[in-house]
Amino acid sequence: MPSIAPFSAPGRFLRGNIHTHSTRSDGKLPVEEVIRTYRNAGYDFLSVTDHFLKEFDFPVTDTRAFSDDDFTMLLGAEVHAPRTEVSDIWHLVAVGLPLDFAPTTPDEDGPALAARAKAAGAFVGIAHPGWYSLSLSDAETLVAHAHSVEIYNHTCQVMHDRGHGAYLLDGLLDKGHRLTAYACDDAHFKAVDFGGGWIELKAETNSADDILAALKAGQFYSTQGPRIDDIRIEENHLAVRCSPAARVLVTGQGYLSSHTSGTAMTRASVDLAPLKGSPWLRVIVTDDMGRNAWSNPVWR
Ligand SMILES: [Zn+2]
Ligand SMILES: [Zn+2]
Repeated sequence: MPSIAPFSAPGRFLRGNIHTHSTRSDGKLPVEEVIRTYRNAGYDFLSVTDHFLKEFDFPVTDTRAFSDDDFTMLLGAEVHAPRTEVSDIWHLVAVGLPLDFAPTTPDEDGPALAARAKAAGAFVGIAHPGWYSLSLSDAETLVAHAHSVEIYNHTCQVMHDRGHGAYLLDGLLDKGHRLTAYACDDAHFKAVDFGGGWIELKAETNSADDILAALKAGQFYSTQGPRIDDIRIEENHLAVRCSPAARVLVTGQGYLSSHTSGTAMTRASVDLAPLKGSPWLRVIVTDDMGRNAWSNPVWR
């Protein structure tokens, strides 16, 4: 049986972070220092997503001059508009925005803004849902205009112990909404909030266009450290090759799940019988330090 995405796709893996802040909004470091930090750490691409708010003069931070053959910048912003059940504003990551993306208008709400960002060509992500108690009913108003949910936000974990978004992603999947999952730093550099969550994306070249297309197509997995080399779905089991793991978990609809645990496993086979009847599944590889790698959801 074939490998699932992104392992089945041609190209090579690129490491990237798509949610970061600089002094163009409330980050601590100037944009060139933010970019240097990621570049020196071996990342292949980055989006500086400053807060697209009036108080910061609605920035789509211009980072084009920092792209070269080895490193790719994607223009983006974290966009905001009223309102969720418990918060004044939505937090949405928009990667692949045009530089002249028009400021939000007073009558624009979160779903309208997400729709406009998507129409302008952006990959739209539902940022740190756990951090601000985003509800499933909030998210359902937005699913038509969003590609992905932040399954892990490192800053929200380090500073608030609210970095995880699986509850929202899985709730949406259970209702049939086909969103992907990405991890990010959301680094502001006001804490040790760098390098804790990223995506490994498969693309044929490192051009901004190819990276953006692969993002929208879900050709990536997310990680806090573990590497996933391959995932195959066979008749009755799922086969994984990965860096040394303590547990490989497959989760699905409701409480349905199945796992294999061991010591330094680099190959694992997980019985899929307990997931019979689940229309979707996703894989979590955990190392002996408790760090996760997350596949995108697979629809059967
Ligand atoms: Zn935010
Ligand atoms: Zn942010």
